[in-house]
Amino acid sequence: MAIKTKIEGNYAQVDALPWQPFPESFSAGGILWKLLNVSPEMGAWTAIFECPAGSSFARHIHIGPGEYLLTKGKMDVRGGNMEGGFTATALGYGYEACNARHDQTSFPEESSFYMTFLGPLQFIDEAANTLAVVGWEQAQDLWAQQTGQS
Ligand code: ZN
Repeated sequence: MAIKTKIEGNYAQVDALPWQPFPESFSAGGILWKLLNVSPEMGAWTAIFECPAGSSFARHIHIGPGEYLLTKGKMDVRGGNMEGGFTATALGYGYEACNARHDQTSFPEESSFYMTFLGPLQFIDEAANTLAVVGWEQAQDLWAQQTGQS
């Protein structure tokens, strides 16, 4: 067995971080994000998202659970209250279970939320074929690329 190194703590001055576009293969309507932390210990990654009115995330499955705090606006999960899903309203907290499938997550008004993903997000097509798996490593690679650290 290889000796592991200790994981260091981390602090992010959120307002000093530059907003980056969340990739269009995973979202529509101009969603921006800031990656705040990745935790290889937990397989977790934490980010905040700024979502313009009418924006949405592409179809995905939460391979691990996730926790969010909606700090502004409204988030329609699985189509929202009007379509048999659920609508979160700021200030709202939510826990998404392992294997939660979200075919439609959209923002009817300008919204923002903070979320810790305890495991990867699997983006899928309508037939549930995998399009991409975004875990802490992929999130970190994307952020490094966008902010010129790679
Ligand atoms: Zn989701």
